Amino acid sequence: LADGLRALAQEPAVTKDGHEVPVYANSGLLADIAPSIQSGADGIGLYRTEVPFMIRERFPGEDEQTEIYREILQSFDPRPVTLRTLDVGGDKSLPYFPVSEDNPFLGWRGIRITLDHPEIFLTQLRAMLRASQGLTNLNILFPMISSLAELKGALQLLQRARDELLDEHYVIPVPRVGVMVEVPSAVYLAETLARRVDFLSVGTNDLVQYLLAVDRNNARVADLYNALHPAVLHALVQTAEGAHRAGKQISVCGEMAADPASVILLLGMEIDALSVNVAALARVKWVVRSFSRARARHLLEQCLTMEEPAAIRALLDNALVQAG
Ligand code: PEP
Ligand code: MG
Repeated sequence: LADGLRALAQEPAVTKDGHEVPVYANSGLLADIAPSIQSGADGIGLYRTEVPFMIRERFPGEDEQTEIYREILQSFDPRPVTLRTLDVGGDKSLPYFPVSEDNPFLGWRGIRITLDHPEIFLTQLRAMLRASQGLTNLNILFPMISSLAELKGALQLLQRARDELLDEHYVIPVPRVGVMVEVPSAVYLAETLARRVDFLSVGTNDLVQYLLAVDRNNARVADLYNALHPAVLHALVQTAEGAHRAGKQISVCGEMAADPASVILLLGMEIDALSVNVAALARVKWVVRSFSRARARHLLEQCLTMEEPAAIRALLDNALVQAG
């Protein structure tokens, strides 16, 4: 069975009623490229650029970043690669950029830092754009967006990076641009944000943490951290509807997308793509192939009427057992 799963993982994942749902890999290290390709990833749905920053002793310069991004873009071309701009703060710190706060998850994190330090942001955006020369698979993703003003600020700096490079006679393709939905305010702004970009990507790791006010890394409250909490499910439905009203695609790149029971619900919400850790890839493709969207939607509708996460999980686990 394990060999069969692995062989099938190289094939696209299509639901029983014919909807293809690409399954991408999450990554942050160039060492992940080969295993991702071998495991059948349809691309990289989330490249956490803070990882190469965290393993260095200083900010990598523009040329150094360009090389890193170029290698990953080239390795997957023409399959899409989503490079997320720097998401430090919260639980991820840079030794050479110390930030000390009482509530780091509610503090200076992700896009907030890069908007306050345009020189860091522009260097990174220029490197991403330069790395994409001659390729067409670059997606740029902004983390921790909580307002339209932040998105506008980020888009302005992206435009500036592009204009600078065009002035310098680089030939730069237009990247696809996306917004992470991982702060509750972005759920309510989904349609507004989606209108300004090409796609949304839901970061359930943070979204669940912020919706339920449960630290994602605190063992004492780990029991309360539950992606099948009805509030989370309603938030995801609302986000998917907002993206689709704007005519845009929506993907999920948090750990929830690696949980087979949750994948059924994401299919029912018509999530357009999933991005998961490499170890989960074959399993997630199997779930996509094992359900029709219509059946997934039916199960989702049942789950949305239920009040207890445990009951929701039991229903979905039963559906998985039936699927084989
Ligand atoms: C998330 O929040 O779900 C996410 C994918 O980003 P990270 O885990 O890097 O915060
Ligand atoms: Mg996150």
